[in-house]
Amino acid sequence: METSVKKIDELKIKGVEVAYYIVCKRKLWLFSRGISFEEFSDDVEIGKIISESFFKREKLKEVELGSFKIDFIKVKDEIIVNEVKKSRKLEEAHIWQTKFYIYQLQKMGINCRFGVIHYPKLLKKVEVELGEDDKAKIDDAILSINRIKSSKSLPEVIKKEYCKRCAYYEFCFS
Ligand code: SF4
Repeated sequence: METSVKKIDELKIKGVEVAYYIVCKRKLWLFSRGISFEEFSDDVEIGKIISESFFKREKLKEVELGSFKIDFIKVKDEIIVNEVKKSRKLEEAHIWQTKFYIYQLQKMGINCRFGVIHYPKLLKKVEVELGEDDKAKIDDAILSINRIKSSKSLPEVIKKEYCKRCAYYEFCFS
């Protein structure tokens, strides 16, 4: 049975959940249950400091839209989503999180075609554009994310390079 666009929009998925879906399904499940160690993670703390100092310079605006919050700049009548990240190791997840925001803004009728991911520590910027094919991929991801979140069982540990830097490392491997 085909799921309607309205039904997908009602699922209230957060941008960070899209990123976690790409990084690790187990992390997504734990986060969605409110089980979080992120506040004790050095990586998250460093990321926040970078983000706050960068935003001061760039004069970005922040807006809360339902289940997600975005930082943006306005250029004429267009909104450009801006994300600040610490390292490019999870770049694919950052790209899809940004595409997700662009798509959600478009669905609200807001003129937004691009996003920019800033890696201030690396002096790099990555421009992100939402392609037509991406929309169907994001809708599919939203449905999968919802299935994972609704599941009663915790997804199993799948060891990956990222695990050692993950805030859930002790939980998964001790
Ligand atoms: S430590 Fe690894 S398996 Fe556990 S939640 Fe993090 S990324 Fe997933």
